Amino acid sequence: MTRTTDSQPDHQPDHQPDHEVAIIGGGFSGIGAAILLDKAGFDDYLMIEEGDGVGGAWHWNTYPGVAVDIPSFSYQFSFEQQAGWSRVYAPGRELKRYAEHCVDKYDVRRRTRFGTRVVSADFDDAADLWTLGTADGGTITARHVIGATGVLTQPKPPEIDGIYDFAGTVMHTARWDHDVDLTGKRVAIIGTGASAVQVIPSIAPDVAHLTVFQRTPIWCLPKLDTRLPLPARLAMRVPGAKAATRLASQTFVELTFPLAAHFHNLLPVAGVGERLGHAHLRAAVKDPEVREKLTPKYALGCKRPSFSNSYLQAFNRTNVHLETTSIERITPTGVVTTDGIEHEVDVLVLATGFKVFEKGNMPAFSVTGAGGTDLESWWEENRFQAYQGVSVPGFPNFFAILGPYGYNGSSYFNLIETQMAHIVRCLRQARRTGSTRVEVTAEANARYFESMLGRRKHQVFFQPSCSTANSYYFDANGDVPFRASTTLETMWTSSRFDLDDYRFEGAAS
Ligand code: NAP
Repeated sequence: MTRTTDSQPDHQPDHQPDHEVAIIGGGFSGIGAAILLDKAGFDDYLMIEEGDGVGGAWHWNTYPGVAVDIPSFSYQFSFEQQAGWSRVYAPGRELKRYAEHCVDKYDVRRRTRFGTRVVSADFDDAADLWTLGTADGGTITARHVIGATGVLTQPKPPEIDGIYDFAGTVMHTARWDHDVDLTGKRVAIIGTGASAVQVIPSIAPDVAHLTVFQRTPIWCLPKLDTRLPLPARLAMRVPGAKAATRLASQTFVELTFPLAAHFHNLLPVAGVGERLGHAHLRAAVKDPEVREKLTPKYALGCKRPSFSNSYLQAFNRTNVHLETTSIERITPTGVVTTDGIEHEVDVLVLATGFKVFEKGNMPAFSVTGAGGTDLESWWEENRFQAYQGVSVPGFPNFFAILGPYGYNGSSYFNLIETQMAHIVRCLRQARRTGSTRVEVTAEANARYFESMLGRRKHQVFFQPSCSTANSYYFDANGDVPFRASTTLETMWTSSRFDLDDYRFEGAAS
C-alpha cells in the first residue's frame, strides 16, 4: 500500500539512513538480535552499547556469587549451544565469556559502537527513519530500531534518609567494587532479593559480621546445581546429548516458571513449590525464630523466587544477623532501625534492585514516535502494552525485545529468539514490499492486550496474598505485563501472526 502524501508533502522515504537497523543494547538481547538479523540477510546493522563490553547484566553484575538461576542448557542460544559449562547453573564470568564468544564468532563486534549512550530516539515522519541522539551529542540514523536494553539495568538505591552521609564504603550489587576487601569488616546488606541471595553466603565466611536488613522474605527453593566434571562435559559432545539435555532443561524451566505462574489456578505446581520451599527452610535454618522471619507470607510466584543451597544456611552462622526491624535512617557510621538501635558497619551493600516501571526506565531514553507522540506518555495514558511485546501503534519501525507482555518467564534466550522471529518477519515483509514504514495496527494491539488481560484470572499474580509481596512485577496500574502464554505458544504466534496486523507502507510498496 502506498501512503498518500497529501498530509505529508515532505514525505521523502528515499532518504538513506546510516544503517538499516540500529540495535540499542549489547547484552544478550542485542547480541541475539544482531546474529539473527545477519542470519536473515540484514547485515547492515549497528549495535550500540553504553558500556565498554558486551554481556549486559553479566558485564555489569560481578558481585561475589553471581550466577544464573536458569539451567545453562536453557540459558544459551539454541543455535550456539556450549558443551563446556562448568556447572548446571553457570557462574557470571562464564556467561560474560559466552557473550564475548558469540560476538566474535558471529562478527558482531565490528558492528558495535561501545561507550555510546542513546539519550533519545525520534521518528522522522517524512523520511520514515529514526534519529538516535547520543550522550556525546552525536546522532545515528536508522530505518528500524530494535530496543534491546533490558529492564533490570538501572540500579535503584533505597530512599532512606542519610544514605549519602555514610562515611564508609557504599556499593550497589550491580556496581561491585572489587578493590574493596571485605575480610574482617563489619558489613550490612540491605535487601533480600535474587542478588542478595547470592552475595550473602559468598561473603559471610570472610566478613567479621554481616547484618542482613530484610523487608520482605524471599521464597528460596533448592538449586539443582552441580559441577559438571570433564567426563560430563565430554559426554555432552556425543551427538544428540546437547539436544536431549536442553529438552529436559526446557521442560523443567517451563514447569517451574511459565506454567506455574500463568496457569496457577489450573495446575497444582505452586502448592508443590511452596511445600518444597517450606521443607527447604525447615532443613536449612536451625533457629525457629529466624526461620519464622524468613518465611514468606505471600504465594510463591507473586514475586521472583530464588534458588540457593547456601542462602538460608548462612543464617545459622554466628557472624550473620537477620534484622527485620525497619530502617529509620543511615548515619555516617551505620544503620539506625526504628527501635533506636544503631548497627555500626564499615561497608554498606545495597542489594536493593533496579528501576522497573519508574519513569525513565521503559526505556531509559526518550522515544518520540509518529506525530511527536512520546512513548512514556502514551503508556501512562493507555497502560503498558505492546503487540506480542514487540511493537506499539504510533511507533513505526520500532521493535522491542522486552516490551510489555513479551516475556513469559521462561529462559530469556527463548524470549530473544521468539521476538526476533517476529521482528525478522516484519522486516522481510517490508523488504519484499519495498516498504519503508512498518507499523502495528491499533486494532491488532488492542486485541492482543485484551487477550492478555483475559488470561490473568489464571495467573498467580492476582492471588490476594500478592498484595503483601512488594513485587516489582506490578506497575502503577496493578498490571503485571508478563506474557501469559506457554513458550510453545509464543514460538508459534511469533512465526504465524497475521501480517495484516501490521501496515507496510512506503513510496515503492
Ligand atoms: P530485587 O529482587 O528487586 O530485590 C531488592 C531487595 O531490596 C528486596 O528485598 C527489597 O525489599 C529490598 N529493598 C529495596 N528497597 C529497600 C528499602 N528502602 N529498604 C529495605 N529494603 C529494600 O533486586 P535484585 O535482588 O537485584 O534482583 C533483581 C532481579 O534481577 C531479580 O528479580 C532477577 O530477575 C535478576 N537477578 C537474577 C539473578 C540470576 O539469574 N541469578 C541474580 C540476581 C538478580 P522488598 O522485597 O520489601 O521490596
